Amino acid sequence: MIDLNKPVNFIQNIIDSDLASGRVVEVVTRFPPEPNGYLHIGHAKSICLNFDLAVANGGRCNLRFDDTNPETESPEYVDAIIEDVRWLGYDWSGNVRYASDYFDQLFEWAQFLIKQDKAYVCELTSSQTREYRGTLTLGGRDSPFRYRPVSESLELLEQMRHGQVEEGKMTLRARIDMQSPNINLRDPVLYRIKKYPHHRTGRVWSIYPSYDFAHGQEDALEGITHSICTLEFADNRALYDWFIENLPVPATPKQFEFGRLNINYMVTSKRKLKQLVDENIVDGWDDPRMPTLSGMRRRGITARAIKNFCKSLAVAKTDGVVDIAQFEHFIRDDLNKHAKRGMCVLEPLKLLITNYSGDCVEDLSIPYHPNRSDLGYRTVPFTAAIWIDRNDFSENRALSRKKFKRLVLGDYVRLRGAYIVRADSVTKDVNGIVTEVRASLVPGTVGKSAPEDIKPRGVIHWVSEQYSVDCCVHQYDRLFSHPLPESGDESFTKFINLNSLKVINGCKAEPALAKARMGENYQFERIGYFCLDDRLKNDDDLVFNCTIGLRDTWSKTQ
Ligand code: ATP
Ligand code: MG
Repeated sequence: MIDLNKPVNFIQNIIDSDLASGRVVEVVTRFPPEPNGYLHIGHAKSICLNFDLAVANGGRCNLRFDDTNPETESPEYVDAIIEDVRWLGYDWSGNVRYASDYFDQLFEWAQFLIKQDKAYVCELTSSQTREYRGTLTLGGRDSPFRYRPVSESLELLEQMRHGQVEEGKMTLRARIDMQSPNINLRDPVLYRIKKYPHHRTGRVWSIYPSYDFAHGQEDALEGITHSICTLEFADNRALYDWFIENLPVPATPKQFEFGRLNINYMVTSKRKLKQLVDENIVDGWDDPRMPTLSGMRRRGITARAIKNFCKSLAVAKTDGVVDIAQFEHFIRDDLNKHAKRGMCVLEPLKLLITNYSGDCVEDLSIPYHPNRSDLGYRTVPFTAAIWIDRNDFSENRALSRKKFKRLVLGDYVRLRGAYIVRADSVTKDVNGIVTEVRASLVPGTVGKSAPEDIKPRGVIHWVSEQYSVDCCVHQYDRLFSHPLPESGDESFTKFINLNSLKVINGCKAEPALAKARMGENYQFERIGYFCLDDRLKNDDDLVFNCTIGLRDTWSKTQ
């Protein structure tokens, strides 16, 4: 029987058989970010996978920082990552954990391997080490230090640890097999000298463990049962297993690999995203154009949409590229269900209603959502002078009703939630630009269908001139103009879309939008989804980020 609460993927199948065979009693997974940047959409897939598998199987998931490279890591990144995982709505088991919590234990295990004749201190330089390692077709050569006495290696390791050896002069390597077809097993490096203070351990250590020597042992120490990582680590698995077999670890975790999430028009590599930040191509890790969780949050994309998207993705054993339109579909789908509606005019054109008293105000009550009564109503004042969007008006009476469902001179249109009006005449400036449209309303048409003889072309949004709130809108386009900015020989920064940010000042919003709160999503009717940006202040005007436009093309092609 299929259990609908369980994820459908090959890792769940493995978990099922592990539970059935008794290899595993409680499923324990972990999400192991390196704090060298902010999390991006690719990490979200890994987070969802690890946490959801744990939850669905009654297990737990740890959050563990893989903080073994002090030069590139920082507490700022640690804090940002914690905030992002929380924002996605996940709660890890116990405290936040760190690879650096295990430095003492890892060091002891390094000594253990030396004593077992399974590790040695090597004095080849990094380029010599590379050269001795051989190639995919050619076996490696033994380091001249491979058989140095145990006592010498132990002594040198102590000196390395205490900063008595220069960087690059020595490494600790496992003694495995220089002829192995798997290059990872050709005496991999376990420790490197790095005289760099660590953000948690300070200057206590002058050596730091390699990813390979750290990761599996940390998994074992935490009782991780399923250590899920991305495909590029498939060849490291043999080494992962070698350490587990050759060390007195308290548990025997297993590594499983799945395909990285790549999305076209996006770059998902912390290193490259950092480059965009460092070179001021974007205005920070949380720039709303960034594929980081913090950028997407500021853009107005909800955690729910990101999770729904991630859950819709196959967990495959191959890498692939997902169409950005698929992601956008999940963003819209979520916002359509949950975002409050509001009206905002981006390019204001004045519409004066001549048969409505200049000092009359009608407080219209309009629902925040067409089918979510729980979201309530807002008051929208109607007055004789209102703003409509310039592109919602045309003087061209010949425009077909099908093509232009907006206001045309001499014809009718419905103002959203209010009256039907007819455009009667226009005022123009010296350049022939329309500065005002004069119109008349059809009395008694609020909340009522049009009289028999009147057929409004469509519905347009509007705001009262007197009660409108000034605001600024930031519209975003894709950050890259090329679908695969990382392919080819050119640097990915060559494909930056220079028009990815459009700032629209002088927009007019309905009064309810002045009360918009951070993290609250709105649909500006007929335009798109927006959210308040508290970081951008624009002469005290409100600033709204456009999360996404209304039109979804992806779902129509499915
Ligand atoms: P980056 O190249 O962006 O630095 P990374 O893999 O080095 O990515 P880590 O901080 O080491 O980043 O990643 C933490 C976890 O997230 C790892 O288990 C990694 O496999 C997973 N992960 C990272 N990027 C992706 C992605 N694009 N798709 C799925 N999982 C990912
Ligand atoms: Mg990494």
